[in-house]
Amino acid sequence: MPESSPSTASAGTAAPWSNWAGNQTATAAVVRAAGADEVQAAVRAARADGRRLKVGGSGHSFTAIARPDGDRLELVAEPARIRVDRERRLVTVPAALTLRELNELLARHGLALPNLGDIDAQSVAGALATGTHGTGAGYGCLSTFVDALTLVTGAGELITCSATDNADVFPAARVGLGALGVLVEVTLRCVDAFVLRADERPAALADTLAGLPELIGGNDHAEFYWFPYTDRVQVKTNNRVPADDHPLPRMRGWLDDEFLANTVFAGACRLGRRLPGLAPAISAVSARALAARTYTGRSDRVFCTPRRVRFVEMEYGLPRAALPEALAALRRIVDDLPFRVLFPVEVRFTAPDDIWLSHGYGRESAYLAIHQYVGVPYEPYFRGFERIAAKLGGRPHWGKLHYRDAASLRPAYPRFDDFRAVRDRLDPDRVFGNAHLDRVLGA
Ligand SMILES: Cc1cc2nc3c(=O)[nH]c(=O)nc-3n(C[C@H](O)[C@H](O)[C@H](O)COP(=O)(O)OP(=O)(O)OC[C@H]3O[C@@H](n4cnc5c(N)ncnc54)[C@H](O)[C@@H]3O)c2cc1C
Repeated sequence: MPESSPSTASAGTAAPWSNWAGNQTATAAVVRAAGADEVQAAVRAARADGRRLKVGGSGHSFTAIARPDGDRLELVAEPARIRVDRERRLVTVPAALTLRELNELLARHGLALPNLGDIDAQSVAGALATGTHGTGAGYGCLSTFVDALTLVTGAGELITCSATDNADVFPAARVGLGALGVLVEVTLRCVDAFVLRADERPAALADTLAGLPELIGGNDHAEFYWFPYTDRVQVKTNNRVPADDHPLPRMRGWLDDEFLANTVFAGACRLGRRLPGLAPAISAVSARALAARTYTGRSDRVFCTPRRVRFVEMEYGLPRAALPEALAALRRIVDDLPFRVLFPVEVRFTAPDDIWLSHGYGRESAYLAIHQYVGVPYEPYFRGFERIAAKLGGRPHWGKLHYRDAASLRPAYPRFDDFRAVRDRLDPDRVFGNAHLDRVLGA
């Protein structure tokens, strides 16, 4: 299955659906809608019939957040609806546009998003709904770039919200979990197009933790990958530079990003799945095999790389000061597992924001993401890490696997009840509900 296309179907027919990782599946009748009118009609019809309607993005969430219990609403992104205000750097797009399409559109207008995550296959709406983020101490999640949103509520009403319009809905709807309405249009605050210089190099974990303030504060975007069973990390920094004067030769880019990061890594994971005893050696070889490299490129092309090796993932946003303790505990968990971990652990950083269900609400965050290759046991690993992360005040990524419920999430989010009050107002009949939302927000 290509990275960007989970299974789809023609209008009205019941069809199988699965997410990118293949760990969430359903069969649901598909309703297709393009503009706001069609979405309103679909929502009103579902409500009148007492059916649930789940709008999907690109299917890149690992949780069942996008899994339809009733019908599945598929939005069609109509290019005719795009509006670009070059002067104010405000761009309005259909919410179903993918980030990849958005990045190309922005580049044509000499614009860019200030920050991005690891991939660009998500829909704009889906990325916003789950608090998708990249890394950078000066940057919040992608939802912090939203200037205005237009959505269809559970009553089929069309509303626009921003800092001035329906301002009481805005801090809830920017990370809305798909629970408040169907986003049809999003206005994003962009910046002038920019070039990044990427620097990637191996380092010792202890040195990296000791130099964390300089790493985070001294670079526009910094992250590192820790290789389980080793003391090694790969540190990646991206900084804004005036000129694209050191592009990666095409062959080197293919070798590093496609061949080593995807093809060889997939082979190593398959080997580790078959012969788990080799996992520590594979991790050590991976840590040593990654060479240092520096290159420049268009911002979105540096931020995002293709991910073809399928995996499942859990990610926790933690108060930044808790990172060393969380990593130390994670090392003990990994060592004690009855099976081996085949994927590196990704560590990223974001700025505080004021969005009620954003993982970064009100605090500087360190994100710790743990992965496991598909088909390899993961639950004891993920549950063990979650116990530690929850104790440290961690907030689970809404799109990545976790086992929390509304009662346990409520203390982690100071505005949890305010969010639920907006949900009660916008979707009193839970047209947009599913079993997953019943669990994490309450029925
Ligand atoms: C390989 C891979 C790499 C990833 N990298 C990162 C990363 O670097 N950083 C990060 O933070 N996350 C990352 N993620 C997670 C991903 O960004 C989120 O799970 C995101 O929500 C996926 O977007 P989507 O379009 O696939 O949405 P889906 O998974 O299809 O849906 C997610 C939610 O959005 C809702 N939704 C979709 N469209 C609408 C709409 N029009 N109106 C209202 N609600 C809507 C759905 O109902 C659902 O609740 C990654 C995931 C994968 C598989």
